[in-house]
Amino acid sequence: MIKRVMVPGIIMGMVLGLLSNGVLAVSPPDVTLSSETIGQGDLCLILVSVEKGEVPHVTWRKRKIHLVPDGQKTLWYGFLSADLKAKKGDFKVVVRVRPQGTEEQFSLGVSEKSYGVRRLTLPKKMVDLDKKTLARARRESRAMKALWSAAPAAPLWRGAFLKPVPGDVAGPFGRASIINDQPRSPHSGVDLRGKKGTPVAATNHGKVVLIGDHFFTGLTVVIDHGGGIQSMYFHLDKILVKKGDMVDKGQVIGNVGSTGRSTGPHLHWGIRVNGDRVDPIRLTEISRGVEER
Ligand SMILES: [Zn+2]
Repeated sequence: MIKRVMVPGIIMGMVLGLLSNGVLAVSPPDVTLSSETIGQGDLCLILVSVEKGEVPHVTWRKRKIHLVPDGQKTLWYGFLSADLKAKKGDFKVVVRVRPQGTEEQFSLGVSEKSYGVRRLTLPKKMVDLDKKTLARARRESRAMKALWSAAPAAPLWRGAFLKPVPGDVAGPFGRASIINDQPRSPHSGVDLRGKKGTPVAATNHGKVVLIGDHFFTGLTVVIDHGGGIQSMYFHLDKILVKKGDMVDKGQVIGNVGSTGRSTGPHLHWGIRVNGDRVDPIRLTEISRGVEER
């Protein structure tokens, strides 16, 4: 359920739209948020209700938030996100409606969120990399990073985001990782249970932008859902799509496996929103109320 959050609005813009009877139409955009603050690695759903013909534009932390309209184009949805390591504090959300130019500003807080620690023991050669393997891992990491920093495509996603396999979470999002007693990058996705060969479904509509066989992530697929949202699927046994393919929500893109640095068959599923590492499970929960159009 979407909780109605009151946002103290300040009408900043000049209202340019004159109605036919000569009366100035002054109505600030009607904004609803799913929460008043978000934790690091979390998301907030924003709904902006406008009149037919109006288009809302949202920025947060100086970044554009891409919105998707419902069938009537009077209710627009999007996600405000905070990276797992995002700076804490209050940040201004600006909602501007064109062509009228009405504007609302309010702040949304980012608070600290602790996800705990996981300790793993892995074969030494999977952790302490030789020069050649290190160069390979860096090259693969750069190829992934380039995807997060690319200019976002128009949103292709619609409605709720699906969990790609039915299995539960075996390894939660966000945990700090201590591998062979060494602190490493935190877990930036979720590990979902699944036997080898379990079909893996695309979480939403999108375009396949990366297919690879990477040292850490094994057989890897990345789907760009447009609007700054990407999903990634690691350690696959088989990949059933090609780079450039357009995929539908629920379409099988591969099978669960244990390729790359993995201790057994599972699906590592990750989500980026505007480059931020966020909890994929939160995205499925928060997008449940979004109309499918
Ligand atoms: Zn994982």
